[in-house]
Amino acid sequence: MRYYLGLDLGGTNIKAGIVDDQGRILAKLSRPTGAEHGPAAVIDAMVDSGQCAAREAGLKLSAVSRVGIGSPGPLDFDLGMVKAAPNMPGWHDVPLRDRIAQGLGRPAVLENDANAAAFGEFWAGAGRDPNIRHLVMLTLGTGVGSGLIVNGKLIHGGGGLGGEGGHMIVMPGGRACGCGQRGCLETYTSASYTARRAVEAVQQGKPSTLTAAVNAGRTIDARDVFEAAANGDHLATDIVEETALYLGIACVNFCRLLDPQMIVFAAGMVAAGDALFGPVRRVFAEQTWKVAQDHVRIVPAQLGNDAGLVGAAAVAWDADRDR
Ligand SMILES: [Zn+2]
Repeated sequence: MRYYLGLDLGGTNIKAGIVDDQGRILAKLSRPTGAEHGPAAVIDAMVDSGQCAAREAGLKLSAVSRVGIGSPGPLDFDLGMVKAAPNMPGWHDVPLRDRIAQGLGRPAVLENDANAAAFGEFWAGAGRDPNIRHLVMLTLGTGVGSGLIVNGKLIHGGGGLGGEGGHMIVMPGGRACGCGQRGCLETYTSASYTARRAVEAVQQGKPSTLTAAVNAGRTIDARDVFEAAANGDHLATDIVEETALYLGIACVNFCRLLDPQMIVFAAGMVAAGDALFGPVRRVFAEQTWKVAQDHVRIVPAQLGNDAGLVGAAAVAWDADRDR
């Protein structure tokens, strides 16, 4: 049995976990990142979290084969560096991989957090079936993160910027995205934008059961929109259908490019269940190729809140395998 330490660095929390080579979690913990104290303090906290997780699992650090780190990016994969991290002051060209390796005395590998989560689902979650070698994951949260796995390997591209499916342009001249482009998939399909589109429609005077809450200044989230749609609200139903339309088209496009065996949706909006997956699968069936039969399955993620740390461990497992 081999063991891996997964470290998931988020703007709010650091998660650490010991995971065995079958993808089982032996111990896990979470603590506040303390990003306001700067990179050196955050790295110390990550090292300490790793030591605590190993202790809780009853392992010496020397029994850990490799450490995997999931981090916000952009990253320099060759140098193991975080080039910048939104929401974390002072993170410019931080050699995170080597600092963690030095601090824990174990080899380490650095991966983008969305890629790591996708690789975790591939290894130990929805894509666990060894026959699955080609998988796409979209994380439908505040933004839309994505990870593309082709023949069992994550796509990084030439400059480490590959696999950003959330920023494919799906509407020329469409909604402004935080990345500087217009009409990105993210601006039509993230949980935040799904809620925002509903709020904007209400503010434009379209009738809805959400109107009273919007006028009272209450925060509307994607769950409220799906709930209103389930209760027969026309505006909310239109918004859900529009989200499903863009997601379904994105799935068709992923199929034309990569022919994945599985497309996994993760994070907040997955809680909507069939209310999301039903319309997406319907759009997919309507819009996809008719010249050949797709064999892709569009399914929810399975790892939930553990995706980040299992994913980081999965990346360590993969690097260990390549050695
Ligand atoms: Zn964008």
